[in-house]
Amino acid sequence: MSKPTPEVYEQGKGMDAHNQAMREIRSRKEASYDPHEPTRVWLDEDNTPDGVKSSLTIILNTGGCRWARAGGCTMCGYVAESVDGGSVTHEALMDQIDVCLAHEADNAEEPADLIKIYTSGSFLDEREVGAESRRAIADTFADRDRIVVESLPDFVDREKIGDFTRHGIDTDVAIGLETATDRVRHDCVNKYFDFADFEDACAEAATADDEADADVEAGIKAYLLMKPPFLTESEAVDDMISSVERCADVDGCHTVSMNPCNVQRYTMVDDLYFEDGYRPPWLWSVAHVLEETAAVDAIVVSDPVGHGSDRGPHNCQECDDRVQKAIKDFDLRQDPTVFEQVSCECELTWETVVERERSFNQPLTR
Ligand code: SF4
Ligand SMILES: [Zn+2]
Repeated sequence: MSKPTPEVYEQGKGMDAHNQAMREIRSRKEASYDPHEPTRVWLDEDNTPDGVKSSLTIILNTGGCRWARAGGCTMCGYVAESVDGGSVTHEALMDQIDVCLAHEADNAEEPADLIKIYTSGSFLDEREVGAESRRAIADTFADRDRIVVESLPDFVDREKIGDFTRHGIDTDVAIGLETATDRVRHDCVNKYFDFADFEDACAEAATADDEADADVEAGIKAYLLMKPPFLTESEAVDDMISSVERCADVDGCHTVSMNPCNVQRYTMVDDLYFEDGYRPPWLWSVAHVLEETAAVDAIVVSDPVGHGSDRGPHNCQECDDRVQKAIKDFDLRQDPTVFEQVSCECELTWETVVERERSFNQPLTR
């Protein structure tokens, strides 16, 4: 894991202060969860470099993210769903996979082509998912076309990716980069790594791709966070446009998933929101970034979770469903003209916010 510099780790300042605050906020959670059940599982479809595929998405319940235990990211409530005690056995992880397969068998006509596995942290961190479990999971899904696993960049290496590609499965590692701007990632998200670490992980994936059979691919899917706390709407938009462009330029990164921040329980964002200090991004901002970056050399998608609610990305309530639908259409077709077909009176309010909101008066609207 890369080390924060002594400067940002000075006691009571910078990252140390963020971590202290986040530890206090997370300590308010009381729930505990069964290690034999996945956190969530659902069927869906998703855009991949080989076109749109049916997908089975699994949120594995592992011991939770190490960084979250130190304090962690300002918007992330996932650790509140992790297992008490911090680790899950191989047998329990495989029980979780069985529950997911049973869910798929009950609800889908045929097995999904694409498997997406997220954890409350990093699937490639062997303290969360050991090598034995990782290989057993690769065996289980050997008959599928493609797999996505989530990881922080530190844990990405060509051999772990090789556990999947050697079965002929196209493999993507999803990295929660959040933004290409180091200052925003460190100070607004409280994430410790740098863009250079992301570039190194992309290079590992590119090597795994070279080492795999010619018809098997390995690559990186970057997850970006639109509007972490402390940014105005216009700063958030500018940060996302430059982040999408910088990610698309990195060899090995073929997809960018740009997701608006929502207000999760037991987070700093939640505390700020409660004190009128945070508003999730406008859906118009999401549409604007997708339009502005449509020409980059990568698939760009967005999944506004909780759209239309106060705690999720929203416009005026009247147009939220329409704009969300345009975003989902864009995800599948990558055609920016989908946004020409939606309009609403609240665009004027959004434009005013983008023009006038300053960090000392934000948020300018609810
Ligand atoms: S966003 Fe990822 S790295 Fe940050 S605390 Fe949550 S799980 Fe950990
Ligand atoms: Zn509207």
